[in-house]
Amino acid sequence: MKKKIYLDHGATTPVDKRVFLEMMPYFSEKYGNASSLHSFGKDTLDTVEKSRLQLARFFGAEAEEIFFTSGATEANNLAVKGIVKAYYAKNKNDYSVSKPHIITTSFEHHCVLESCQTLEKENLAKVSYILPQKDGLVRVSDIEKAIQKNTLLISAMYVNNEIGTVQPIAEIGKIVKKNNLKKSLEKKIFFHTDATQAVNYFDCKVEKLGVDMLSLSAHKIYGPKGVGALYVKKGTPIKPILNGGGQEKGLRSGTTNSCGIIGFGKAVALLSNKKNAQKNKETLELRNFLIEKILKEIPDSRLNGSREKRSPNNANFSFKNVEGESLLMMLDAEGLACSTGSACSSGSLEPSHVLLSIGLLPEEAHGSLRITLGRQNTQKEIENAVKIIKKVVSKLRSISGKVLDDYYAKK
Ligand code: PMP
Repeated sequence: MKKKIYLDHGATTPVDKRVFLEMMPYFSEKYGNASSLHSFGKDTLDTVEKSRLQLARFFGAEAEEIFFTSGATEANNLAVKGIVKAYYAKNKNDYSVSKPHIITTSFEHHCVLESCQTLEKENLAKVSYILPQKDGLVRVSDIEKAIQKNTLLISAMYVNNEIGTVQPIAEIGKIVKKNNLKKSLEKKIFFHTDATQAVNYFDCKVEKLGVDMLSLSAHKIYGPKGVGALYVKKGTPIKPILNGGGQEKGLRSGTTNSCGIIGFGKAVALLSNKKNAQKNKETLELRNFLIEKILKEIPDSRLNGSREKRSPNNANFSFKNVEGESLLMMLDAEGLACSTGSACSSGSLEPSHVLLSIGLLPEEAHGSLRITLGRQNTQKEIENAVKIIKKVVSKLRSISGKVLDDYYAKK
């Protein structure tokens, strides 16, 4: 059987062998609960704290500013809802006070968008959703124009998970800082970024970005699934959204996922390895090769999102007269794994909100294909992938052409 090709690293990545080895003993040999006071617990706790330090170093933060969660979905929910909860707590839970204002973008991951929409529905916040430009980039000036007297939070993703475009986070950070100079501490704007798709490729030093909160997930960076983190700058008012045992200094209740956290720490530490920088360069070259080949060899294909300001591993195409779900299924039958829209929303036939927000028509958004490369992909695989995509697109077009011909013949 032909070897399958995996080009869906935006959905998830395999666990790095070094990460796996680091985690192994913590499943059945060193199984203590990190909150237990005996030596079993203490051993686990020490290693969890080592991971916290590894993350803190990577982000240029302090260990006590890192809070482990079950993933980026939870980290994003906590960032958005937790800060609004703290706002009302400061106002003695008087819900008649003026509602806080949030600025976000219209093409965030659903976990940020729906957290904002929930707060709106519950009448707890007002939200401005900033549209990106056609190239998939948000203008800093549009964010700045949206700032109001009572803006409490700006939440903007670093790298878009579908089209891979890189948002000007450090510039937004500067705008936030400038606006905060004019405001009293009470009225400070806090800045959060969802860096889930960025950490493998871009500078994530929190000071440079000017962020107060940053979310990430281990399974996008060759770590295990079910673990993530939220960086929270000291002094940022935030309240928990889960009730329970008060782990993570009261911000995130639930038994510490020690195996996951230990693997997460290792995965993050490996990102600073020189070999990773070299790998990222190779990924970028392969990705550029892929884009050039597809655009040259497949007529009526287009790249969605800026060509330059995009993640080195991402290519997102639309193929005229091709339906995304059928494309995906047929590619899979040929042994090629990619995605249409985002993995979290596939299964739904709604056109991607990301592609609609950069101005694609619903039918164009339906015909999209997201290809995300990873550390293990080779030139040969990319060459084969292009051949498969070319064949399948042409087959689908001939079928849809035939369907249309039959339709018009019957009329
Ligand atoms: N944000 C972004 C940008 C993502 O790509 C994802 C994963 N698709 C998430 C949040 C959710 O992450 P997790 O799977 O860790 O909940």
